Amino acid sequence: SVQREALVAAVENVAARIESEKSHLTDLDSAIGDADHGNNMHRGFQAVAEKTDEFEGMDVDELVKTIGTTIIGNVGGAAGPLYGGSIMTASQELEGGITAETSVAFAEAYLEKVKDRGDAPVGAKTMVDALTPAVHTYKKSIEHDDLPPLTALAKAVDAAERGVNFTVPLRASKGRASFLGWRSVGHQDPGATSTLFILEEILDTAS
Ligand code: ADP
Ligand code: MG
Ligand code: MG
Repeated sequence: SVQREALVAAVENVAARIESEKSHLTDLDSAIGDADHGNNMHRGFQAVAEKTDEFEGMDVDELVKTIGTTIIGNVGGAAGPLYGGSIMTASQELEGGITAETSVAFAEAYLEKVKDRGDAPVGAKTMVDALTPAVHTYKKSIEHDDLPPLTALAKAVDAAERGVNFTVPLRASKGRASFLGWRSVGHQDPGATSTLFILEEILDTAS
């Protein structure tokens, strides 16, 4: 189907972007973590990209669920279950295909699951700081401003980018970076950054 092919293209673009940003993400994690975020994400998205043959014949919800389970099985660290488990759970919202409505439901379910698992509020210097404004902007753009999904997604990416910049001055209160206390201030969060890269590639593929 057209939607499946678009998803496979998005997966390939995300995997390629993560590969090219591997050392960047690891550098960010070396400043406030354990210097493995680039490797973790790269391992996971390579594994996903290697599954594109299996994606043939899958409905989009099943395909997205498989992306989630593959990430859980291959990323590891804090990010693995947060990304993978949340994608897996949120995939249920895509039963019947991807529409403006189901994409909003997916985004909201994904954010809810990340918050549920990680217990990080906005401002804890985590991926939640990029994700929350992105999801809220996407939902509002579609449901309130009646914008087309692609325009809404572009706005969501801008919001995520502001969220990433917002992590820099924060003191981490969740995840490994919180062990550093005030010394985490002045550094950009790796997981918020990888979240932005993924959203940028989804937008790029859809455009
Ligand atoms: P680890 O910290 O186990 O080495 P990674 O380096 O792959 O795992 O991922 C680190 C990222 O995970 C952080 O930059 C942050 O964005 C995210 N993260 C860590 N803990 C949480 C949490 N409790 N809630 C949300 N995101 C978190
Ligand atoms: Mg790490
Ligand atoms: Mg680690």
